[in-house]
Amino acid sequence: MRVVLLGPPGAGKGTQAQIIATELAVPAISTGDIFRANVSGQTDLGQQAKSYMDAGDLVPDEITVAMVTGRLAEPDAVDGFLLDGFPRTIAQAEQLRDSLSELGHALDRCLELVVDEDELVRRLSGRRMLVDGEWVQRDDDKPETVRHRLEVYREQTAPLSGFYEQAGLLSRIDAIGEVDEVTARAMRALGRDGDGGSTGVPAAV
Ligand code: AMP
Repeated sequence: MRVVLLGPPGAGKGTQAQIIATELAVPAISTGDIFRANVSGQTDLGQQAKSYMDAGDLVPDEITVAMVTGRLAEPDAVDGFLLDGFPRTIAQAEQLRDSLSELGHALDRCLELVVDEDELVRRLSGRRMLVDGEWVQRDDDKPETVRHRLEVYREQTAPLSGFYEQAGLLSRIDAIGEVDEVTARAMRALGRDGDGGSTGVPAAV
């Protein structure tokens, strides 16, 4: 299966991506994680991306699309993938559609995790990640940057919901609740709700 996970920062994309990808037996590909690994590794790509990330802005499409296209060409992603954090602009979505179609492939579904904005701000300001045994706040989770990232999401990424709806690929998932409840809603939307692998038309969730 080829799936895109859409949703604002703080919606739980990273957590759900890992679980859903394991269930589907496909790699979870997170552009944010790839960028962060490149920043820590001080690669050229990391240096190009860092200032945008620190400001809470999107890394330019040409850099991001080249990176994702390369990653999707790796053997483990040829038969399926779950993308977390890509696409984030209509241009990225169009390029993804076109490069998959050149390979004779297409997306199966876009899952949009829906969480209201007050809850997002609350989650992001409390979020910590483990680095070298210590819990630290991501630089881009500082309150000023969080507000900016949410604006960037509203302006540049939220329109993807309409893009995928028009393509008949969108399932909106209520992403408030326990992690496993949200996963169950997502799996139902993918037609994989543990009933033996039904692949019927995904129900509204
Ligand atoms: P994330 O971990 O998905 O929140 O991504 C962290 C940061 O990486 C974002 O705020 C952007 O600066 C950058 N980034 C990740 N994915 C993309 C993308 N698809 N397009 C542009 N920038 C991205």
